[in-house]
Amino acid sequence: MIERDYYEILGVTRTASQEEIKKAYRKMALKYHPDRNPDDQEAEERFKEASEAYEVLSDPEKRQIYDQFGHEGLKGTGFTGFRGFEDIFSSFGDIFGDFFGFGGRARTGPSRGDDLRYDLEITFEEAAFGKEVELEIPRTTRCETCGGTGAKPGTQPITCPACGGRGQVTRSQGFFSISTTCSTCQGTGQIIPEPCPDCGGTGRVKRKRKVSLKIPGGVDTGSRLRLRGEGEAGERGGPPGDLYVVIHVKPHEFFERSGDDIYCKVPISFTTAALGGKVEVPTLEGTETIQIKKGTQSGEVFQLKGKGFPRLRGYGHGDEIIQVVIKVPKKLTKRQEELLREFAELEKGENVTNLHREKGFFKKMWN
Ligand SMILES: [Zn+2]
Ligand SMILES: [Zn+2]
Repeated sequence: MIERDYYEILGVTRTASQEEIKKAYRKMALKYHPDRNPDDQEAEERFKEASEAYEVLSDPEKRQIYDQFGHEGLKGTGFTGFRGFEDIFSSFGDIFGDFFGFGGRARTGPSRGDDLRYDLEITFEEAAFGKEVELEIPRTTRCETCGGTGAKPGTQPITCPACGGRGQVTRSQGFFSISTTCSTCQGTGQIIPEPCPDCGGTGRVKRKRKVSLKIPGGVDTGSRLRLRGEGEAGERGGPPGDLYVVIHVKPHEFFERSGDDIYCKVPISFTTAALGGKVEVPTLEGTETIQIKKGTQSGEVFQLKGKGFPRLRGYGHGDEIIQVVIKVPKKLTKRQEELLREFAELEKGENVTNLHREKGFFKKMWN
């Protein structure tokens, strides 16, 4: 509990009216509210102080005890001071409601529907070229029978008699007054004497709804497409939420993607590598033939300009990057082996110099 004088904290006189105390607290709460002063220790302390002072001075019984006996008197009642932010907001909700848009009456007005998330898996090619899809989204929509009011057609919701439409009830317990959400109306401030038979009084029904979506070419895993107003229906006449479609791209058999470029490894025979030749390579659209030059080494890369993904933001396409991998035959016919041995004979002596020249390369590899 804070030891400073509560009147001093709020900057009001000892004869201040309830209205003056409320006004003073609002001003301080607005200034030192933790949402407006993130990570500001001092502001937080001032906010706590003011809240505690307001809790005492806004309650006629507590105020009287404080006036007569000071902090010590309050301790005798079991009052322990600042109760934590959550409690403060639920008790003094209507004070903040005007400023911050939460608590108190705000809960009984129209509210926007929730956003929905839908995870959609598409193929690599669909991500590249785009696709039109029709999704079946299970979501709540406004009940047509009652027009969303929840009341049986021909009847009307009435003001909750338990809370008088406030949505909150205040109970006095000894020196404390505790505000809680009204259990009769669940905080809406209204009750429906004759609920709509189709929605049971909620004003909303679960329906599967078809939504068409055009996926643009170039999307990637994690891309989010927003469909405005296709989320859950709003409550009490509020606007609907949005639908977010989150894309997941299935991995491809050959290709890997990095940004808008695609990569693939293409095996070529060692004779093609040595003599050069034409090789068929996969592309997003099918296949293409590339020319391998004489003496191509394993790991060499070829670039197909503009054969990658379309750029989602901007123009043109990424590239396709092909890395060739030289395959050594595992089985040789007798004739092939004869020729290779003959070739090896011719190569003798050359190997040594090659090795010497490529020493640096081996060093790099071992490191
Ligand atoms: Zn009520
Ligand atoms: Zn209904």
